[in-house]
Amino acid sequence: MAFAAGGACAPAADLRLHRKLLMYENDVIIIGAGGIGCAVARELSRYELNITVLEKECDVAGGISGRNSAVVHAGFNNRPGSLMAKLCVRGNQGFETICRQLDVPYQKTGKLLVAFDEEDLEILRGIIAQGEANGCRGLHLVDQAELQRLMPGVGGIGGMLSSETAVFDPFLYCIALAENALQNGARFVFNSEVVGIDRASSDARFTVQTADGRQYRASYLINCAGLYSDRIAEMAGIHDYRIYPCRGEYFILDKIADELLPLPVYPAPKAGIGGLGVHLTPTTAGNIIIGPSAEYIDDRTDLACTAEVMEQLFAEAKALLPALDRRQIIGSYAGLRPKLTLPKEGGYKDFVIQEESSCPGLINLIGIESPGLTASVPIAEMVADIIAKQKPLHEKSNFVEGRKRPPRLRDLDETQQAALIAEDPEYGEIICRCQKVSKREIRNAIENPLGARSISAIKYRAWATTGRCNGGYCLTRIVDMLVREYGMKPEEITYRSAGSELFSGRVK
Ligand SMILES: Cc1cc2nc3c(=O)[nH]c(=O)nc-3n(C[C@H](O)[C@H](O)[C@H](O)COP(=O)(O)OP(=O)(O)OC[C@H]3O[C@@H](n4cnc5c(N)ncnc54)[C@H](O)[C@@H]3O)c2cc1C
Repeated sequence: MAFAAGGACAPAADLRLHRKLLMYENDVIIIGAGGIGCAVARELSRYELNITVLEKECDVAGGISGRNSAVVHAGFNNRPGSLMAKLCVRGNQGFETICRQLDVPYQKTGKLLVAFDEEDLEILRGIIAQGEANGCRGLHLVDQAELQRLMPGVGGIGGMLSSETAVFDPFLYCIALAENALQNGARFVFNSEVVGIDRASSDARFTVQTADGRQYRASYLINCAGLYSDRIAEMAGIHDYRIYPCRGEYFILDKIADELLPLPVYPAPKAGIGGLGVHLTPTTAGNIIIGPSAEYIDDRTDLACTAEVMEQLFAEAKALLPALDRRQIIGSYAGLRPKLTLPKEGGYKDFVIQEESSCPGLINLIGIESPGLTASVPIAEMVADIIAKQKPLHEKSNFVEGRKRPPRLRDLDETQQAALIAEDPEYGEIICRCQKVSKREIRNAIENPLGARSISAIKYRAWATTGRCNGGYCLTRIVDMLVREYGMKPEEITYRSAGSELFSGRVK
């Protein structure tokens, strides 16, 4: 266990600790450091509150928030009047600002929905009406010529353009929210799985037990546990929810978005599938992702990509964009939607964001599937409003709204690169050749403020190992740095959390 910025295993100074019982006192405990938990932590860190985020993995974004389409949705897909619709539209409208404040890669690309026949066009007309009822801006139909102008080579007879849709980096988004919350006094405790919750009737405070035997107390418990949010609710005595995981598989294509895909391209949606259909999305790093499929599964840990689904994905993507070529594929991944709808029903149920009347102080956030990341800031504001109705929240005078990430060589022109290298020669030493990541960037990632030190923590911060060679060149160099310069034993190096050790010992 490590307390971010408090030194390894050392509680931060202001955390009141009853040493004998290993009991940590807080105002608010947030369970889960995905996009929602990090956004809630950042929002609540505006106020004079003692906040701890407990996360079972070794870093932020280890759950759904690191396995999605990375699209800032406009909000036209959701039922008018639903929380999903309202919070998505609000989230979309504020997303560019939050990304600017927190220095997160964001590109307002727009998005195309493609119609293959008259029936699809009729569906798109309905979507525009629904979107406008939700308050979305910038939706209109396009004819085939306009479709081709916007996205040369795409199939289809016409479509719909959403000009407010964007793409962003979900890893750096979660990291930025968490780092900013940390700057403002929130604590992040990784490798800390919540295994028990008790609420004392004497003082109405929660005692939260983690797998390592520690106990944390707080007046407010905010359940942002994603796929496991129903289980956290159960630990608190609420048995009303059940999450049904629904897997979405993706292909990752090489950095060809600039030539091939200027904006996300989706098929016109079909009713009841509980997803948005297989789409092609450019990433802020220049790759293309194809997916996701939608398949209910039983196991909440099953992130497999299966041959059959992947075949189908590629065929559907090729119908949208015939120029696609299998040789462009460099990887795959899967994410699980935390659905509240039964497999036989499909479709969507609205987000649950509420304090439980039978368990005052417990704020449940359950079924936060897409567009959860887009809506994350308004969701967090809603949590703050729920607390503020009962307890006056005092704003800090020294709240820091912005945060800067370290410079990235590949974002700079040659003159700027030369200046950076002159300042620090480690910027001139390339460790990841595919993505042009320097030694200094790897060092910045290793020394990140949250204290996460897995290979994935370095990967998502520096973007090393993500290229066509899949880490073949840079992984050994990163490991070498961790061993020689940071004193780690090879056996201690994990890909993600405990259990993903990369080495079992030395052979010579
Ligand atoms: C296939 C797919 C595509 C999507 N595409 C988009 C998109 O393009 N745009 C968009 O806005 N949204 C999209 N979403 C939705 C978005 O990804 C989610 O709404 C969002 O990431 C949910 O965040 P979260 O913090 O609730 O969950 P998570 O990110 O899963 O975070 C929950 C955290 O809780 C932790 N946790 C669980 N149990 C415990 C415990 N007992 N103790 C301690 N910690 C615990 C987990 O380890 C995890 O880190 C997509 C989702 C999927 C699956």
